[in-house]
Amino acid sequence: MRFIAEPIGLDLIHSFQIARSSDTKKQNVLVSLTDSGMVGVGEAAPSAYYGESQSGVVDALRPAYEILSEDPLNMERLDRKICATVPNSAAARAALDIALHDLVAQKLRIPLYRYFGLHSDDTPLTSFTIGIDSLDIIRRKTREASQYPILKVKLGAGNDLDIVKTIRLESDAVIRIDANAGWTVPQATALIPKLADLGVELIEQPLPAEDYDGLRRLRINSPLPIFADESVKTAADVPRLAGCVDGVNIKLMKTGGLREALRLIHCARAHDMQVMLGCMIETSVAVTAAAHLSPLADYADLDGNLLIANDPYIGVGVEDGKLVLPDSPGLGIREADDRAQCTRPGEEL
Ligand SMILES: [Mg+2]
Repeated sequence: MRFIAEPIGLDLIHSFQIARSSDTKKQNVLVSLTDSGMVGVGEAAPSAYYGESQSGVVDALRPAYEILSEDPLNMERLDRKICATVPNSAAARAALDIALHDLVAQKLRIPLYRYFGLHSDDTPLTSFTIGIDSLDIIRRKTREASQYPILKVKLGAGNDLDIVKTIRLESDAVIRIDANAGWTVPQATALIPKLADLGVELIEQPLPAEDYDGLRRLRINSPLPIFADESVKTAADVPRLAGCVDGVNIKLMKTGGLREALRLIHCARAHDMQVMLGCMIETSVAVTAAAHLSPLADYADLDGNLLIANDPYIGVGVEDGKLVLPDSPGLGIREADDRAQCTRPGEEL
């Protein structure tokens, strides 16, 4: 199997600010696996929050070349080998896992959602994210997002209620809040009932990732469902969150790919939790991969590709907010005409 890692530089349409950081660019890595004339494509979106970087992902992937002599259809065996060989970067594992799933579903000549036994009619609506910004720009972003029936609003910078009131004046959309671990228990306890009055649907990660006791206490009196994001990376994180949250936000860049995402979904269901599928700032490669699992989710927040000005691929679509899965084999993605604009020379591993 030929194995290439290609660093890419992505320009964001708006600067993307959340409670702890602000970005105008994103540095990801595309991976391609070529076997029997077919090319499987994957993507890593490294997160500084989880100690990852673009060069770190490429380095983490180097030892994986050794395991790619395995038949790609031996997916569980490969999954174990990927975890053993690339232990320290979930984003790097995700890139390999996505590329392998793309390749295998192409070999089977079926779209990836059918490999998982899912139906494309069952995709949920996706939210569209509004990052933290001045109220003027928030107003403009809200107008620009008028085709999306659900908005995911980033809070945690201080003027939280003003931001939600500004959006509510512009839009009747469903509003979901993501505080990105930016509140304390007293702050969250005071804010959440006011956000409920403004028609907010749910609250994501109100407290620091490790504050399980705080989440449990907050949830008891919260009028809105509480979801964990930073508090949950893999299935092993779910049991300790039982009773602390109503649902979990699952991302391929935290799980290390589709197989662990699937295990996490089932583990969350077993603990009576709801499931949201989310993403980092990712191109249509990784967002489309997650979208193929979305028929299993109650909520989707799969808009990372929509925030990028130079997405190198075309994949999952959005119509009136609903995710539209490609029907061609594998991920079903194709290169954008201007793909070369964001890429640097690939490195054969
Ligand atoms: Mg989040």
